[in-house]
Amino acid sequence: MTETRVGLGFDLHRLVEGRPCILGGITLPHVKGPQGHSDGDAVLHALTDALLGAAGLDDLGTLFPDTDERWKGADSATLLGAAMERLREARWTVNNADIVIATEGPKIAPHRAAMRARMAELMGTDVERVNVKGKSLEGLGALAGGTGVAVQAIVSLERL
Ligand code: MG
Repeated sequence: MTETRVGLGFDLHRLVEGRPCILGGITLPHVKGPQGHSDGDAVLHALTDALLGAAGLDDLGTLFPDTDERWKGADSATLLGAAMERLREARWTVNNADIVIATEGPKIAPHRAAMRARMAELMGTDVERVNVKGKSLEGLGALAGGTGVAVQAIVSLERL
């Protein structure tokens, strides 16, 4: 019998000047980038938490604490790779992932295809199983004017 699970991830980072704008595993041309210990890739952080959540494997900060030398300043793609390794050990495969990136910072639409391809590659799955969409915030709330990026990710996993 096939077992199916879903997991939810969320992340929020401030966008500041002088940081590369790395989101969804790619670098976007933008004057500000996400603040953080690592590259601050809020998209990969939300996705990784959704994957771990679906598999019942705790969360990003608990499994890969930045107080541990191995993970200190680690690139978010490496953390996602380490999470995927745990999933594979538990025989989980990715059905699909769907991601919403809410920001008034970098334009997401021109980079959706590249993000999907990169995240599919990192998860070892097909690009049509990974979806990304950008949402503007209508100038409302604390993230108005491109001060930050908020990300929601949902993932479905399957194992036989
Ligand atoms: Mg984060």
